[in-house]
Amino acid sequence: PIVTRFAPSPTGYLHIGGARTALFNWLYAQHTGGTMLLRIEDTDRERSTDAATAAILDGLKWLGLTWEGEPISQFARAERHREVAEELVAKGAAYRCYATPAELDEMREKAKAEGRPPRYDGRWRDRDPSEAPAGVKPAIRIKAPREGETVVMDRVQGEVRFPNKDLDDFIILRSDGNPTYMHAVVVDDHDMGVTHIIRGDDHLTNAARQTVIYQAMNWEVPVMAHIPLIHGADGAKLSKRHGALGVEAYREMGYLPEALCNYLARLGWSHGDDEIMTIEDMVRWFEIEDVNKGAARFDFAKLEAVNGVHMRRMDDAALTAALIDTLPYLPNGEATLTKLDDGKREQLSAAMPGLKERAKTLLELADSAGYLFATRPLPLDEKAAQILDADARKVLSDAHDALLSVEDWSAASAEAAVREVAEKAGLKLGKVAQPLRAALTGRSTSPGVFDVLAVLGKQESLGRLSDQIG
Ligand code: GLU
Repeated sequence: PIVTRFAPSPTGYLHIGGARTALFNWLYAQHTGGTMLLRIEDTDRERSTDAATAAILDGLKWLGLTWEGEPISQFARAERHREVAEELVAKGAAYRCYATPAELDEMREKAKAEGRPPRYDGRWRDRDPSEAPAGVKPAIRIKAPREGETVVMDRVQGEVRFPNKDLDDFIILRSDGNPTYMHAVVVDDHDMGVTHIIRGDDHLTNAARQTVIYQAMNWEVPVMAHIPLIHGADGAKLSKRHGALGVEAYREMGYLPEALCNYLARLGWSHGDDEIMTIEDMVRWFEIEDVNKGAARFDFAKLEAVNGVHMRRMDDAALTAALIDTLPYLPNGEATLTKLDDGKREQLSAAMPGLKERAKTLLELADSAGYLFATRPLPLDEKAAQILDADARKVLSDAHDALLSVEDWSAASAEAAVREVAEKAGLKLGKVAQPLRAALTGRSTSPGVFDVLAVLGKQESLGRLSDQIG
């Protein structure tokens, strides 16, 4: 069975690029009937925080990217990392290096002067440990092959060859007894039974070094797939100046998790011309081989459009529920939440067909639903106040009286009454509808005004109209 893993470093939030990596791992596991594991790479104690781990778990849960079992702490496995390092020493595939910091500095300086990348020269590779200087704590280095090539067979990048002369004897266990990232990843992936490593292509050169460790241990190298990073619209690596990087910010902007997954999946992966996909579609169709080699560009307008389509595709009850669930994360959403008694929930659901036509995010949806929660007398925005001049208020008064006599309240009956008012006064329908909208919602734009009348109900509608007639 296939085992994938997502292995974030808990140093901040769940990065949008990390979320896509997690998504690909999850999709592939789901697609193949396998499992995805979660490993928190918290070996760097200075930079790792519990808050970051919590944010990552929270982001994954919100996106619906489930993992099997408990998250695994890399730091907690340090003893095992030491054990494997010792095993490598015992079998002659690694060695203790007693080079002092001064010696290492010297090597670095020399490389710099010669214009080469810094590289350990292997001075303890074949030296007898009995020559070890007193008082120097050794690091453990892998005995990397010096001739030939290390080949990474990558499912996305193809066959990638690394000349072994470029791989130095890198450290696997530091002199303080802590494993390096390179080593910990290999030991963990092996022990966790990971069969497929899907991660950003910034790890491709690490893959060569990690392969050296796998081979030294005689362990099977997992299938590798290094996916291109996400870039901004200008082609540069995605960074803060392009927009939000943390997944939680996308929740706060009112994106649906399934829409964000859809958009992220399409960044680098495609299935024919399909743009809009459900989670089930993606699970059914996801193949690593269909991941593109080239970097994908993050396009906010596209994300918005995808989100809008997902919102309109949801049925009204589900969208209402999604909005209510998201309210705590939206600016001012808490205030709306406190006003949500059962009656308001029903009203919100009833208003949904009109609301969802124009909103691209839940935030816009919450904003345009604001009229439902407003209390009388409604505050008017600037444009609404302008619309409600003396003439308009006269029209409003006629509309009020006509609506008062409507018996069977509905969008259709309200519309008939308003049309009659317009005809009698020789006005275009808009000349009546506009002041109505301003008085009913406090704004100059809203869903269809007859739907607004229907959703608010007769009493509340007439009340709002009277408030403006004065
Ligand atoms: N912890 C690494 C990162 O966050 C990922 C390592 C891996 O996937 O092998 O970039």
